[in-house]
Amino acid sequence: MSDLSLLVVDDEIDFTVFVSAIASEMNFTVLSTDNPLEFEKLYSPHINIIVLDLFMPHIDGIELLRSLYEKKSDASIVFMSGKDNNVLQAAQKLAVEQGLTVLGILQKPFRAEDLQNILSKYAQKTHARNFELIGSPSVSELRQAIDREDLFLVYQPQINISTRRITGLEALIRWNHPTKGRVPVSYFIPLAEEAGLISDLTTHAINTALKQMALWNENGLNLQMSINVSPKILDDLDFPGKLVKLTRSLNLDITKITIEVTESSLMPDVARYMDILARLRMKGFRLAIDDFGTGYSTLQQLVRAPFSELKIDQSFVKRMDIDKECRSIVEISILLAHKLGMKVIAEGIENEDIHHILQELNCDEGQGFLIAKPMLASELKPWIEKYSFS
Ligand code: C2E
Ligand code: MG
Ligand code: MG
Repeated sequence: MSDLSLLVVDDEIDFTVFVSAIASEMNFTVLSTDNPLEFEKLYSPHINIIVLDLFMPHIDGIELLRSLYEKKSDASIVFMSGKDNNVLQAAQKLAVEQGLTVLGILQKPFRAEDLQNILSKYAQKTHARNFELIGSPSVSELRQAIDREDLFLVYQPQINISTRRITGLEALIRWNHPTKGRVPVSYFIPLAEEAGLISDLTTHAINTALKQMALWNENGLNLQMSINVSPKILDDLDFPGKLVKLTRSLNLDITKITIEVTESSLMPDVARYMDILARLRMKGFRLAIDDFGTGYSTLQQLVRAPFSELKIDQSFVKRMDIDKECRSIVEISILLAHKLGMKVIAEGIENEDIHHILQELNCDEGQGFLIAKPMLASELKPWIEKYSFS
């Protein structure tokens, strides 16, 4: 990451020092000032990220934004402010409307890891972009990877929030390219969807996850298994039938399998999608609406489809200990799900405070780095043994 540069402007010198230290540690080349009037002197088109305080004496963040806009700057911006989140949201909206790129917003005081997450998101995006520019794996490489099984699954434990007991696992797909290394999920899932390979990819993922589940069952480990399914698959009217056949052939309990879906603009035919969801539910599978609160998942969809669980998106959960709005969204989502008779699962539990608040809010289940990162199938048993005794 050493060729990336970052400029931080904040009249509170404590914050410029804090931000600079974190960015340097992440190998950014850092420029910083606590005097906003020096901004023009320090700015250059080579700067990748600008971390900007919104409220400063003499000149404020919004004025600096205008200057960036006039320069047609490519830099990605991170806003900081001690005022409430609405101000940050408004600034973000304004910047985006002017064609600038906003990488994230930070409400003061924030933790080192909040900034680290934003900066590593940039690094990941650059990584994904570099994939596209130079060595991006092609559609035929993806096809080969599916055939050769270079695509594999990792499993993230889910726990009961009040007892902390493990309840289930979410299967998440990974691709290790033999020469190009780990390919980001955010790159190859859309690629598979566009290239018509998503059905093969999902079939591969479902087969692997269910076979693994059968193996665990034989070893006395009876856990729920959640599998992500692209909405594109839910165009195949035979999907529920095929899934039942596979489940029966492996002797699995259908009620222990959850299909996670998101609504998407890619969805070709809503009526058909609802038909398939309803039949999956009738056959006994559990259905989860994933990433609730973002993008395309709507209240209308929530009441129309027979979901048995609601997964609150990690973007809210991760910040709910320091951000009032995020906490409100999580709280309302839990109330809503319970009113509709659904189970709620929070994703993105990264620390004990978050876990504690979720407990107070009566959230049913959760997953996140506090409990465990997604792991290989072979790592699960040792992890459970250690976790149960800790
Ligand atoms: P998702 O289903 O919402 O999965 C949760 C994502 O959050 C996973 O990212 C997981 O690694 C991450 N995560 C879990 N706990 C934490 C935490 O505490 N902090 C943070 N920062 N992140 C956490 P991942 O594996 O990169 O997957 C991204 C998305 O890719 C998934 O979101 C899902 O939509 C899609 N995906 C993954 N596997 C499959 C698959 O087999 N088929 C399909 N169609 N989509 C998949
Ligand atoms: Mg999911
Ligand atoms: Mg999710």
